Amino acid sequence: MNYALLDSYECYNGVEIPKIGLGVFLMKDENELIEAIKSAVEFGYRHFDTAKIYENEEYVAKGLKEAGISREDIFLTSKVWNYDQGYEETKIAFQETLDKLETDYLDLYLIHWPVEKFVDTWRAMIELYEAGKIRAIGVSNFQIHHLKELKNEGLLQPMINQIETHPEFPQNELHDYMKENGIIHEAWGPLGQGKSELLIHPILAEIGQKYFKTPAQVVLRWHLERGIVIIPKSVHRNRIKENSELDDFTLTQEDMDRIASLNTETRYGGDPDNQERLRATSTKPIK
Ligand code: NDP
Repeated sequence: MNYALLDSYECYNGVEIPKIGLGVFLMKDENELIEAIKSAVEFGYRHFDTAKIYENEEYVAKGLKEAGISREDIFLTSKVWNYDQGYEETKIAFQETLDKLETDYLDLYLIHWPVEKFVDTWRAMIELYEAGKIRAIGVSNFQIHHLKELKNEGLLQPMINQIETHPEFPQNELHDYMKENGIIHEAWGPLGQGKSELLIHPILAEIGQKYFKTPAQVVLRWHLERGIVIIPKSVHRNRIKENSELDDFTLTQEDMDRIASLNTETRYGGDPDNQERLRATSTKPIK
């Protein structure tokens, strides 16, 4: 029994989100994704993170079906993409996502990026939540000023904010703001997306040696020590297992301080305040 995979954080509305999930970004090969999901379910994963823009929601549904797991035993997240934002558009996009995932509810639905219409999107999400079609609603890539904007509208607050987070970009200020406001911090790119030398850093290797753990496991444990939800992605069975074996060690304050020294304030993904990028992704491509 892998207890790390059974552990959860409680959203402010009482919904439990498993601390560890499998991310499926860039998994576009149907068989590869199905096999990854089957391995994950076998190892005890019960939380899966997809998005409309990943173009793999159907494969996630197939993988879960082939894994033979019941819907109510799974925590399923998807996200509304930028060009689907707006009040009516979000409701349509949500139904498309449900159809692709072959379900009639989501555990978590997120606004993928804070594009111009995000307040209208949020109003639609609140309605879907209140209608019982989504168990928890949240946002992604929101900065403090975006979260404050929702707060100032007097609307229900997001339960979760999924943001790029790893030792080179720990999001300290946003993390503290979310903690103060009861918003769960979920990390995307928890391993740095494989875009840097992070996982061969000697500090992580040294810490790992003390506990017979890999640098990836040290990084993932660092997130858990901070109270963050993690959704590491891997298509490799051995890594899917490795990324969940996190409950048989803890990090000391000294370990945490050494990992904090890796902060270079480096984003590897998009900047949520890059308006040009947000605008460019808000227009539906003509097929
Ligand atoms: P991750 O930080 O999870 O890194 C994934 C990369 O690390 C892959 O190249 C993977 O390779 C490799 N890897 C995985 N496990 C290990 C390991 N134990 N040792 C060494 N390398 C490893 O990046 P992601 O971008 O995938 O982020 C995780 C999830 O977050 C996504 O899958 C997606 O669900 C979500 N996300 C959300 C975003 C948002 O805007 N809300 C943006 C980006 C991601 P391999 O597969 O070959 O094993």
